[in-house]
Amino acid sequence: MHRKPSPIRHDYNISANPRSGAAARPHHVLWFVAGLGLPLLALILGLSFRDAAPTEQPADVTNDTVIASAAAPAGTRVVFEAQPEAPLPVTPEPPAPAYESLVLKVASGDTLDGLFRKNQLNIADLITISRLEDAKQPLRVLKPGDELEITHDAGRIMSLARNLDLHNRLEVNRDDAGRFTATLEERAVEYRQVMRHGVIETSLFESAAAIGLSDKVIMNVAGIFAWDIDFVYDIRVGDEYYVIFEELWQDGEKIDDGEIVAAEFVNQGDAYQALRYISPDGSSDYFNPDGRSVRKAFVRAPVDFKRISSGFNPNRRHPILNTIRAHRGVDYSAPRGTPVMAAGDGKISFRGTKNGYGRVVIIQHGGNISTLYAHLSNFRKGQRNGTRVKQGQVIGFVGMTGLATAPHLHYEYRLNGVHRNPRTVSLPQADPIRAEYREDFERMTGPVLAELERFKRMQMASIDSGEAAAL
Ligand SMILES: [Zn+2]
Repeated sequence: MHRKPSPIRHDYNISANPRSGAAARPHHVLWFVAGLGLPLLALILGLSFRDAAPTEQPADVTNDTVIASAAAPAGTRVVFEAQPEAPLPVTPEPPAPAYESLVLKVASGDTLDGLFRKNQLNIADLITISRLEDAKQPLRVLKPGDELEITHDAGRIMSLARNLDLHNRLEVNRDDAGRFTATLEERAVEYRQVMRHGVIETSLFESAAAIGLSDKVIMNVAGIFAWDIDFVYDIRVGDEYYVIFEELWQDGEKIDDGEIVAAEFVNQGDAYQALRYISPDGSSDYFNPDGRSVRKAFVRAPVDFKRISSGFNPNRRHPILNTIRAHRGVDYSAPRGTPVMAAGDGKISFRGTKNGYGRVVIIQHGGNISTLYAHLSNFRKGQRNGTRVKQGQVIGFVGMTGLATAPHLHYEYRLNGVHRNPRTVSLPQADPIRAEYREDFERMTGPVLAELERFKRMQMASIDSGEAAAL
């Protein structure tokens, strides 16, 4: 999957491309989980859902999302994604009830041999199993916390299974003739779509924590809107956001947060929307509903946002010189060592020390634009004058070299040699979606947008009724 570097930590690698990944996700285990776990979950949550049983659907049914009913807590809508069908493979017969089942939990210092002896399991069986071609490697190393699922008949091993990682599982079974066969199975990861609505009262992160959103998800939201919104300076009390994202579930447990499917950020009254689109060639990116990429030539803030020092103010008092002098850039206060990123693609035109700027990098971009990054504690190794850098690539680290009282990034943006406020300078519009993908884009993202809009209306309605109830 091709992705350009993003200015803010963007963890996209978790979930597989739903288009190309269908084959990579076996669904028999999923349906097994869906058949047992989800109705239970639905009962617990008071949710309704359909499609628990396998049906004969075409493979590509991303539009057919199944929405839970309204019993979920406010801001917590659970969407069960209808999963593409795969023929049910023949699963091993469940062991006869006479066999005992046992889970061996590996502690530090344990060996397989020791665990078998401790549980009075047949050592000869263990030797046979660990010589099986497919079992040899997966059984070689044990880590504390690993689990081995075993069924046995008075110590005689009937089956042994071990989850090797998120996607792979070893299964060993004894057949009727008494012989063991080992198979490596793919573990199904279930992708659930979840919706959240956050309102900023103090900080972005606190608003996320208040609705149970992980730092990873909120960082990804910020990453998607980094071209439109300066998350250091532009965020205000009352800003709000709606996000639809994936959660990865396996064996009834949430194992991770996945990608953002759609999001809206309302910043000082202006709403920005982004929809994930996976094009037929497999590349995944975010677009607004008009089909324009969220990516622009420059990000607003080329540093991880931590806290505010001072904004763009041509008449501010310089803390060191103690005189009024034009401050021709934006200062981003951040701990020493915080990575500083190239705001856009370009070429390093200066890297070195310049009086008050201290250690500074200047990047020359297209369109006669240059950007400057000052007071760095250090430069990124391996770069020099003339090095081409990509947007989001680290070029140095926050420091306080030159005239600075505290660690911060001083960032300037110049057009034809004239300083512009990088926070407000208008940036060229991003390219629209390729013409041949236009129809596909609308078909794929239309239902997601509709879902986002429906979620927003519901949230507003619940706020209105909440206010009405309070009166
Ligand atoms: Zn400054």
